[in-house]
This record gives sequence, C-alpha cells and structure tokens, in this order.
Amino acid sequence: MNNLAKLDHQFVWHPFTQMRDWLKREPVVIIAGKGAVLRDVRGRNYLDANSSIWTNLHGHHHPKLNAAIRRQLGKIAHSSALGLANEPASLLAEKLVAAANLIHFGGASSTSPHSKSTKLGALGTRPPEIRLEKVFFSDDGSTTLEVALKLAYEFTRRTRSAGSLPASRHRIEPRFLSLEGAYHGDTVGAVSLGHIDLFHQSYSGLLFKTDRVMSPYCYRCPFNRAKPERADAREYRQCHWECVGLVEKKFARQKRKGNPFAAFVFEPLIQGAAGMIPQPAGWLRRVTEIARHHGALLIADEVMTGFGRTGVAALVKVRSHRHANPRFHKRGYGAVLFACHHEDVQPDFLCLAKGLTGGYLPMAATLTTQKVFDAFLGEYGEFKTFFHGHSYTANQLGAAAALASLDILQNQKSIRARQNLEKILHDELQTLWPLPNVGDIRQVGLMAGIELVRGWRTRRPFALREHAGIRVCEAMARRGVLTRPVGNVIVLMPPYCTTPAQTRKMVRAVFDSVREVFDRL
Ligand code: PMP
Repeated sequence: MNNLAKLDHQFVWHPFTQMRDWLKREPVVIIAGKGAVLRDVRGRNYLDANSSIWTNLHGHHHPKLNAAIRRQLGKIAHSSALGLANEPASLLAEKLVAAANLIHFGGASSTSPHSKSTKLGALGTRPPEIRLEKVFFSDDGSTTLEVALKLAYEFTRRTRSAGSLPASRHRIEPRFLSLEGAYHGDTVGAVSLGHIDLFHQSYSGLLFKTDRVMSPYCYRCPFNRAKPERADAREYRQCHWECVGLVEKKFARQKRKGNPFAAFVFEPLIQGAAGMIPQPAGWLRRVTEIARHHGALLIADEVMTGFGRTGVAALVKVRSHRHANPRFHKRGYGAVLFACHHEDVQPDFLCLAKGLTGGYLPMAATLTTQKVFDAFLGEYGEFKTFFHGHSYTANQLGAAAALASLDILQNQKSIRARQNLEKILHDELQTLWPLPNVGDIRQVGLMAGIELVRGWRTRRPFALREHAGIRVCEAMARRGVLTRPVGNVIVLMPPYCTTPAQTRKMVRAVFDSVREVFDRL
C-alpha cells in the first residue's frame, strides 16, 4: 500500500464513512487536479463527476483562481473580522449583494422553465420587493445555516414582542418549518432543521424541535396517479398540487395555535442530500407565497444550488440601482446565479457556501435584509449585538478566491460554456433510459440524480443495506469517474469546465456500471 494511504488508514477518520469498510481497501489518494480531472498518487486520472462534493465550479488548478489567491497571499492570508475590516471581504460583500439582487420580478426576459410557468400564484398578492443588503461571513454550509437560524430566531422574538402576539404569548418560542428529507448541515442547529432519520435520529436528544412538511418528490409522491414512464416524473405527473395544499394547511394550523411559523427553511428547486429531489416548476413560487402570507421569514439554503448550479436559464436585465455591478450594467444583463431567482423568489436569508470560493477554500456567507440588521442595532448596553462569529470569518484568501470566481461566473465565455454543458448533460442522460434499473433521471441545470430501482415499471426501491448506489459508484471509479451516491441515487454534478467528451464519459460510466452491477443480480 502506498505510504500516504497507510498514514491515512492509521490516523484519519473520514466523514460520513463506515470506517470498517474504508480500512478494507487502499484509498484513492489525490495529489493533483486540473480542470475536471483529479490525479492520484499512482498516476491514475479520474473525472471529478460530483465536483468534489458539490463545491468546485470552474475546475481544479484554475489559472485565474490560483492567481487571485497568490496575489492575496503576497499581501496577507488572514486577519480577524472581530474588530477589523479587510480589503477582499469588503469588495466581496458588495459583489454578493449585487448578485443577490439581480432579480427581475415578473420579467419576460427569463428563459427558465421555472420562471415561465409561474405567473402569480394562488394567493395573488406579490410580496414587496425584498432586497438583501447585509452579508455575514462564516465558514461552511452548516455555519451559514446556523447564522440564518439564530438571526431569524432573535429577529422574530424582538419583532413579535413589539406587538404582533398577545402579551400572554410573548414567551412562546419561534418555530421553524422545513421540508421532509431536509438536510442543512451537521452542526446541532442545522441538524435540528434536518429530517433525514438515517443521519439525524441518533442525535435527537441534542436537538430542538422543528416541524416538517411534505416536499414534492414527484417520482414517489402518493398523490401522483401517473404510471411510471421513461421520463422525468415531474413531466408526466398527474396531481392537483396536493403537496402545496399540505403546506397551506401546515401554516394555517400553526397560526391557529397562536404561534405562527417564524421561518420556512428550504433548498430551492432541488433538495440534494434528500436524494436529488427536484421541485416541479411553480412549487417554490407557490409555497413561498403561502409562507409570506402567514408572516414567515424565508431562509433559502443555496449551499448546493447557488452560483449557477441550477443553470444559466435567465439573463436578467439589470435595473440601475446603487448595487448594480458595473460589469453587468455595461452590457445591460447578467446571469441569474441563485436558484430562488429562477422562480422570482427573494428570501430574507440567502445561505451560501460550497461554490462561493469556486470550491477552493472553506468560506460561507449569509445574506439578509436591512430590516433584520436594524433589529440588532442599539446602544452597547442594550446588548442587542449579534453574539456570533468564527475565528476565520471573512478570511482574505477565501474572499480573494470568491471574487475571482464571481468574475468568471459573469463572463460571457463561462455563461456559454454552462449553457452548452447543461444541454450536453441533458442529451447524454437520455441514453440511460433503456436501463431497466434506472427509475428516474432528474436534471436541474448542471446537476442530475439518477434513481436506481429494482425495475422501472414497479419503482421498487433497493434496501439501503444492498449498497446499490455504492456498488455502482465503485464500478464507476474503476472506469475513472468519481462520484458519491445519496442512497440509491447516483449524482452527476460536473465542474463547469467539463468538456463534451468528459460529460459523455461520465454518463457512459453510469451506463456500464449499472449494467455491470445489476446484470449480476
Ligand atoms: N446545506 C446543504 C443544502 C448542503 O448540501 C450541505 C452539505 N452537503 C450543507 C448545508 C452543509 O454544508 P457543509 O458540509 O459545508 O457544512
């Protein structure tokens, strides 16, 4: 066994990994990467088909990102944000605010299926335009959610006690609603918002109570009366939006209890760790209108979906306001970078991590409104301060990488490349339908989930113990393509620089591996 692999076996404990299985075989030890390719210590090349667990955007060893970090390194790597400002973090906050408000409500310029099919929802009234004005930096996906959670909790307590509830109810704790199958990270607050029993049940004693509501999993929805077809279940579903009705009921019931939900937490357009479960066009718009109607704040977890992952789709006209980024402004449009905006939804909290630095460094940001910010203003002695922060908050190297990444995201070459990749991925995925063990293929922009089943006509699932997803991914690795399954769902999430030939190779590896694994059953 290679020496580095030996050291790993001796000393390293891996995340979300059964270490008994891990210790049975020599691990792949990555020593280099370029574009969509990872190289291991034995000189073997692999395609990074899940963008290093959904983080990498533009490819590895990217000249612009490398140069930005080197430039910053020539100045300083890190100084604290507790008591000090710094250059790249200030610039990045401005750019993030510009990108987060690049939304054209009700506009005709969008080409996104999500925007097109959703004019006004059932409740009719439009929310007043919400602007995200403030950026709180942290470290990763979990901490960006912790920040949103604490801010929403405290904001609700402060604003509610200003008179919206009867005096007898002032001490009632703000409650949060999230989706079935929700996953928002591994810190205790984020786990409390989660509803994946496999991950979360063991810690139930540590958690605070939250509520869950049905998420639209069209392929396995009890309200979908359609027989299985060889197409994405969202396209042939037959239902009456019962899932939206359940959301409405949940909010109404909680209001009757005298403690309306403080916030609704969701991944927009697609839930990742739940099993790459996409929402049918119009769902997000409808349920967020219901949430707003009931006075809940919206917390959008765009840790996975942010920074163009859900597709370019819309090029949005930029109105002239003080946050208009001059780069977009000159040309008059920019690419929508966040999933929410595909359905013209603007949350009160936008949680970003993973792709923020192009997948280079751990850094996260929670964006929120002036209104939330103002609720924490006061004289020092009033102790309204937001008592939260991390040692590496607003780290300069991370911010420099993020600035370079945002620049790449808005350049026309990158936008075109993303549009092409989305199309090629779509075309290639169609080759998987003939496989009887492929039940559903669900693509949202530049990512896809392929659900494996015993037989497509019955939708019968494999038990987790059968390791169906894991075995297919192991077979893919032998073919030089790396990804990790979520249960029985194979995830493809290529870096944006992936070439057509590499995309073809990724999908071909799924095809051959599914055949190899299930032909033996
Ligand atoms: N939210 C979502 C939607 C995620 O997918 C993840 C991680 N996969 C997280 C939060 C947590 O992020 P991190 O692992 O960076 O803490």
